[in-house]
Amino acid sequence: MKSRRASRNRTALNARPPRAAAKPKRKTAVRESAVHRPRPTASRTRPGAFSLQPSAIPKRLLDIYQALRNHFGHRKWWPGETPFEVCVGAILTQNTAWTNVEKAIANIKSAGLLDARKLHAAGVERLGELIRPAGYFNVKARRLQAFLDFLVRGYGGETARVAEAGGPFAREALMGVNGIGKETADSIVLYALNLPAFVVDAYTKRAFSRMGLTHPLAEYDDVQKFFTKNLPEDVPLYNDFHAQIVELGKNFCRKRNPRCADCPAVGMCEYGMEETGR
Ligand code: SF4
Repeated sequence: MKSRRASRNRTALNARPPRAAAKPKRKTAVRESAVHRPRPTASRTRPGAFSLQPSAIPKRLLDIYQALRNHFGHRKWWPGETPFEVCVGAILTQNTAWTNVEKAIANIKSAGLLDARKLHAAGVERLGELIRPAGYFNVKARRLQAFLDFLVRGYGGETARVAEAGGPFAREALMGVNGIGKETADSIVLYALNLPAFVVDAYTKRAFSRMGLTHPLAEYDDVQKFFTKNLPEDVPLYNDFHAQIVELGKNFCRKRNPRCADCPAVGMCEYGMEETGR
């Protein structure tokens, strides 16, 4: 295994490409890593720096989950009284804070329309008025209407009937709906249909690449495969693990200035250990 200093130097060099007109280097006793200290951004790359044996990864993931859960407690996701409400929330939460989604859902509820068939019949203009607090309301109204078309025309408005088809089929079918991508489809499969699908988001990519477990440039499917390969296929675990990662990303593993010194996962994080000198 390479020494921590060697690893740090390589990372620093990777982080800063050489300038075209670089001045000749002065001889100096100062370490490269002290001069080019890597900045705490998501773009920091450590290809090949993963130090765990593959056989140790499942336990490491469960240890990380436990450390986060000890800190944050069980997150009891997803907020929503019915699977249909979860679907609506998953579509509206794209590019907006959850508090705005709550306002939009409250509007739908007070109009007595939190039902697939009723909301479908309301039409896209009415939808736009109701979900205005969620932002991008014209786009989101069209997306929601497309989902309602899918649900009502294909499954009689019953999310349970979508679930009957099984997780992989449901995922593919949902991704065929305009405006539903991988993250939203997996959120619906996991949190509304109660079927196994590990949800990956920007928080997941950032935190686990800093931990040295995934590559910073890994695509959604690769990161998802990393988790599903190394975790038991367990809906409650997938449910709360993703919720814990969101808390980690919001409270500690921020894009800029991550709070490594206070992070509950610092003892299992390459980046955090370097930053804090542990
Ligand atoms: S120690 Fe925590 S906050 Fe720091 S990089 Fe690692 S996961 Fe992110």
